Amino acid sequence: MEAIFTADGHCDTMLRVMNDPDYDFFSNNGNGHLDLPRLMEGGVNLQVMALFVESKFKPFQALPRTLEMAGAFHRLVDSNSDKLELITSREKMEALKKKPQKTGLLMALEGGEAICSLDSLYAFFHLGLRLITLTWNQRNQLADGVGETCTGGGLTVLGREIVKAMNGLGIGVDVSHLSEKSFWDVAEICEKPLIASHSNAYEVCNHPRNLKDDQIDKIADTEGIIGINFSSYFLNGTKKSSIEDIINHIEYISNRCGFDWVGLGSDFDGIGFPPEGMENVTRFPVLAKELIKRFGDGNALKIMGENWRTVLNKVLPSS
Ligand SMILES: [Zn+2]
Repeated sequence: MEAIFTADGHCDTMLRVMNDPDYDFFSNNGNGHLDLPRLMEGGVNLQVMALFVESKFKPFQALPRTLEMAGAFHRLVDSNSDKLELITSREKMEALKKKPQKTGLLMALEGGEAICSLDSLYAFFHLGLRLITLTWNQRNQLADGVGETCTGGGLTVLGREIVKAMNGLGIGVDVSHLSEKSFWDVAEICEKPLIASHSNAYEVCNHPRNLKDDQIDKIADTEGIIGINFSSYFLNGTKKSSIEDIINHIEYISNRCGFDWVGLGSDFDGIGFPPEGMENVTRFPVLAKELIKRFGDGNALKIMGENWRTVLNKVLPSS
């Protein structure tokens, strides 16, 4: 079997980098779910790192806080360019396959509060931003998030302009956390594959953060991707889960629309209760082994990272 290309579509480790003075990305930390030594141990080739701005900074401090996080992210990559590679184009991502000693990091934004105009989107594109989760749970100037249950709102006028501009620039449109109305508004106008970087199947676990069947079908229609979230709450609705729960969501989605549109979106360092046996990124090879056993080599490779590669090849710009 060929080497496994492992890609994880979402983590909130930048929160740890920003807030925990005892955390060091370059040391094997006892706390948290990932750092560079553990990414390497887990064989992770591509890790999407979200800039997640905490609610206390919204709305007025969202822009300066997002800029600070983007700066911290670049400082991280620059301080160890032997081992880290900033992924901003298809070519850079493809080159990762030939450089197993390097870990690719892709800069994402979780919650678009800092994107207040087309020009601010353009500025963040030049800072290397390549994936935007349009909202977190709240409403913002782009769209309503899933936690905004009173208004029934969808994508705003600005949100529509921003999605179209993201399509043109080569920034992925991430529909995780959107309200259902926002999701369908995005689906109507987005010309690139839809990305749900860290969401599961609602029929398996009826959490509002999970995707209904028609949403799953739509993402597959666009040749997009659903990254399976490792939060026990989203896997089975409790604080306790296992690798079997991850497999259940993968099996449900692949039974509906095949193995081409499902990947991983751990949400490590953003979740409190990961599954037993999947406590941190070093456990990815254990999951791979289980996927091979259940679905065969080819399908396991797709789920572990090839599907992320395929979708990013359609979304990212050429360098
Ligand atoms: Zn999230």
